[in-house]
Amino acid sequence: MTALGVFCGSSPGNGTAYIDAARAVGRDLARRGIEIVYGGGRVGLMGAIADAALAAGGRVTGVIPRWLVEREIAHTGLSMLHVVENLHERKSKMAELASGFVALPGAAGTLEEMFEQWTWAQLGIHEKPCGFLNVNGYFDPLEAMTMRMVTEGFMQSSYANMLIFSPDLADLLARFADYQPPQRKWTDSGKP
Ligand code: AMP
Repeated sequence: MTALGVFCGSSPGNGTAYIDAARAVGRDLARRGIEIVYGGGRVGLMGAIADAALAAGGRVTGVIPRWLVEREIAHTGLSMLHVVENLHERKSKMAELASGFVALPGAAGTLEEMFEQWTWAQLGIHEKPCGFLNVNGYFDPLEAMTMRMVTEGFMQSSYANMLIFSPDLADLLARFADYQPPQRKWTDSGKP
């Protein structure tokens, strides 16, 4: 893994656990020589992970839409900042640059970005692993929801199993290294 796409909250969350976890991830990725590709902001967990990685000598690339530069306060000290035209370009640029995706706790934006990568992987648009760093059990209800999609007959278990949930970054990265993409959802004949 050379570059990891990281999606996370533009808010810090309550208490210090989430910020502490984001800083630890930033430091750990820098130490492993893994570049961070993220949304380019200086706020919330986004800023925390970038600052920690940069302070530890890591490489951090941001991708931010022009109109969000001031709202999310674009980070000015990054190794590279791509200013793009809109949110669609942000996600496709991040997808192009990263070889896997991790979500830390966040809100609608975090889930939207991650779910897009997950659905793209289901459709065979890419074969990159997707994981949730389950800090504080934050993503437990989401993991349960993905299982419910399967038990209620809306999704095959192989697609639910694509998502890796773990409280530990080292474990997530090890499972990324072993990741085998499932059979894509639609074959060339157009049938699932
Ligand atoms: P949140 O988890 O809601 O705090 O948002 C985290 C990040 O996701 C922020 O940088 C948002 O700008 C970003 N975001 C929200 N919606 C989208 C979207 N549709 N496409 C790309 N990024 C988004």
